[in-house]
Amino acid sequence: MFDFDFFVIGGGSGGVRAARIAASEGGARVGLAEQSRMGGTCVIRGCVPKKLMVFASEMPQAVAEAWAYGWNSSLGTFDWSRFRTSLESELTRLEAAYRSTLKNAGVQIFDSIAHLIDAHTVALASGQRFTAKHILIATGGRPFVPDIPGAELAVTSDVMFHLPALPKTAVIVGGGYIASEFACILNGLGVQVTQIYRGSEILRGFDHEARAHVVAGMERSGVTILRGFDVAQLTQAGAQISVQGTQGQALLCDLVLYATGRKPNTAGLGLEALGVRLKPSGAVEVDAYSQTSVPSIYAVGDVTDRINLTPVAIREGHALADTLFAGRPTKADHDLVASAVFTQPEFGTIGLSEEQAAAQGPAEIYVAKFRPMRTAFGGMPDQYLMKLVVDAQTRRVLGCHIVGSAAGEMIQLAAIAVKLGATKEDFDRTVAVHPTASEELVTMRRPARQVGPEPSKAAPAGA
Ligand code: NDP
Repeated sequence: MFDFDFFVIGGGSGGVRAARIAASEGGARVGLAEQSRMGGTCVIRGCVPKKLMVFASEMPQAVAEAWAYGWNSSLGTFDWSRFRTSLESELTRLEAAYRSTLKNAGVQIFDSIAHLIDAHTVALASGQRFTAKHILIATGGRPFVPDIPGAELAVTSDVMFHLPALPKTAVIVGGGYIASEFACILNGLGVQVTQIYRGSEILRGFDHEARAHVVAGMERSGVTILRGFDVAQLTQAGAQISVQGTQGQALLCDLVLYATGRKPNTAGLGLEALGVRLKPSGAVEVDAYSQTSVPSIYAVGDVTDRINLTPVAIREGHALADTLFAGRPTKADHDLVASAVFTQPEFGTIGLSEEQAAAQGPAEIYVAKFRPMRTAFGGMPDQYLMKLVVDAQTRRVLGCHIVGSAAGEMIQLAAIAVKLGATKEDFDRTVAVHPTASEELVTMRRPARQVGPEPSKAAPAGA
C-alpha cells in the first residue's frame, strides 16, 4: 500500500491542475510539494504579474485617448512602489486561492523541496519520505543567462516584479516573448529602453510580416531595437552598467534584463539516477501521455519543453489525471495552439506563418492593414494587421495572425474556427459585427498574394 496514489512535485499550472483533478474527480489520495510560492511561474513571476504590468504600462495611451475624446485628462507620475505593493497583494490573494482550491479538493500540501529516492518514493527536505503509486514531475523552468563576464550584473524576469525602483534606462537582451514584452512594459512606464538582439530581427519563428508590424509599432512607441548585437561582457561603470558587444559596441544603462530563454528545472531531482531519460536540453522526455521512461513517473509543463505555455501545461496535467484516475486515457493535444505576445502592439497568432505555409504547398495570403476607428479619431498612428494564411487547395485557414489592441482576445476566438478546420469561405459567410476591428477577419475578399508552388504543379488535395 502506497502513502499516496499520486505525488506531485511542483505547484505550478500543470502540477496544480493534475493534483486537483486527480483528487476531486479521480478520488485519488494526492500529495503535492512546492518549494516556493504556490502557483508557480505563471502566477507568481510570469503571466499574471506581467499582464498586470502590461495594463499599468498602457495607461499613458489610455489617458492620451481620453484627451482626444474630449476629457481634460492629464498623465501624472507613475508611483512604482504603490503599484508594486498592489501587485504583491494581488499575487498573495491568488496564491491563497490556489492553496484553498487544492485543500478543498483534498490535496495534502507540503511546502518543501522534494526529490526522488526511487520510482515510487519521494523525500522532502525534512527527511520525511512518502511512497506513491504515481509521481508527477511538474517543476517548470527557470531563466537562463549565458555565461558571459559580468553576467551577475544582469537581472532576469523573476526580479522584475520586485525592483526597489524603476530604472531610468534599461537594456533588454533577447528577442523572444519575455524580452519583447518587458521592452514594451518598461517603455510604457517611462523607462528609456534599448532591446538588443543577436540576430537580424526579433520574434524569430513568427510570421515575418506580423513580426515586422509588431516591431514597427514598438519602435514608433519609443523602444530602440538594436539588431546584430551580441553581448561580450557587462561591467560596472559607477552606478551604471556598461553593456559591451562583440563588435565593439557599448551601451550604458541603469538596469540590464536578460531574457534569453528558459531551462527546465530537472537538476537535483534524482531523475538520471533512476533512469528517467532527459533530452539534451535537460528536459524530461515523455510520451504522448506524459509518461517518462520510468513507468510510474510522469512529467508535464515546461520541464518537458514541449510547448512552454501555461494553458498547455494545464491541459497536460488534466489529461494525465484523466488517464490515471478517471479510466480515460487522454493525450494532451499540442496541435494548433494559439498564443499571444503581450507587446504593444499586441500580437495574437495561431497556426502556420506565411513562410511555413509556402514551404508546405500553395497558399493564399489575405492581409488587412488599417487604422482602428478608436485611435484614428485622435490622430494616433496605430495600425492593425490582420492576416489569414489559406491552403489554396483545401481552402482551410492554416494560420491567423493579428497585431493590434486586444489581439490576444481576438485570436482566442479565431482559434476556435481554425481548430475546427474552417475554410476561407466559412470565414466569408460569417456576417461581420460592425463596427469592430475584428470584422476585417471576415471581410477580406481578395488575396494579397499567392505563395508556395503553383496549385497546378502541386499534389492534389488529399493526395
Ligand atoms: P524565447 O525562447 O522566446 O526567446 C529567447 C531569446 O533569447 C531569443 O530571441 C534568442 O535568440 C535569445 N537568446 C538565446 N540565447 C541567447 C544568447 N546566448 N545570447 C543572446 N541571445 C540569446 O525565450 P523567453 O525567455 O522570451 O521565453 C521563454 C518561454 O516562455 C517562451 O518560449 C514562451 O513559451 C514562454 N512565454 C510565453 C509568453 C506568452 O505566452 N505571452 C510570455 C513569456 C514567456 P534567437 O532568436 O537567436 O534564438
